[in-house]
Amino acid sequence: MKEQRSNFPLPLSSVTGGARKSAAPPAPVATPQTATQNAALSALHGGAARMPTAPGPAPKAPSYAQPALPVAPAAQRSELAATQNIRRAMVERVARQGVKDQMVLSALESVPRHLFIEPALSAQAYIDASLPIGHNQTISQPYIVARMIEALREGVTRGQGKLGRVLEIGTGCGYQAAVLACVAQDVYSIERIKGLHELAKANLRPLRISNLRLQYGDGMLGLPQVAPFDGIILAAAGLEVPQALLEQLAIGGRLVAPVGAQVQQLQRITRIGKTEWTSATLEACHFVPLRPGTA
Ligand code: SAH
Repeated sequence: MKEQRSNFPLPLSSVTGGARKSAAPPAPVATPQTATQNAALSALHGGAARMPTAPGPAPKAPSYAQPALPVAPAAQRSELAATQNIRRAMVERVARQGVKDQMVLSALESVPRHLFIEPALSAQAYIDASLPIGHNQTISQPYIVARMIEALREGVTRGQGKLGRVLEIGTGCGYQAAVLACVAQDVYSIERIKGLHELAKANLRPLRISNLRLQYGDGMLGLPQVAPFDGIILAAAGLEVPQALLEQLAIGGRLVAPVGAQVQQLQRITRIGKTEWTSATLEACHFVPLRPGTA
């Protein structure tokens, strides 16, 4: 991992080298193409169940689940229980890929990903892939969601306690926002596409997450009225990280973002002073583009 100290914005060339070395296999790439292939596969196999079926009991599987989400109503509790094993298997895969932060793994285990995916695809909700959510956008793959949140927490919380105030750019269907709400005290999430903002609201409503607020608007401008943030996560890739977001980080706060166009790297930026930030390149990734304005 390469730490750089500089003033921002950084040119693209300064963030494309020095990918993180790890014993883990290379990170799978989240692509809309993967999502399309998954959809085609699902159609082939006639998979259109609303709820994925759990692969039978898994007695020895370690559980990461802790009380991450507020208590769900009874109907949801039974659906949550029905999908518990399959979600646990997903979390074990993510842990094998190198994510170690127990609080993040717990959060992943407690959020019902199938509720964020359209019924025709929900049989695939727990495979490690991005999936289409409409408007040419995708729900991120579970590994990258976990890896980004782990990267946000590293150093800030030293693996203990929750993050304070966190901002997500790119709500999409709301899944990552729900996971973030398990590991942070307050989460704000901005989406630029009205239809997706509404979709996320509908997906999240039954979960009744009290520390999550959704905002429709251009996330490149951040949320100055709520700043500063201890953490900022971008779920879409720009050629550089918008200066407004860097300015809205608290000193000591961190921002995790994919940076680049065809070739993208996950970058982590730490604000170390009023006008100083450091950056580290974590690993290769593939996200939908960060776009200005609203739609
Ligand atoms: N967080 C989602 C991922 C959504 S994909 C998940 O849980 O899987 C990325 C999202 O970023 C898309 O919905 C896209 O519309 C949105 N996006 C792109 N540019 C944006 C901007 N400037 N402001 C807010 N959202 C943006």
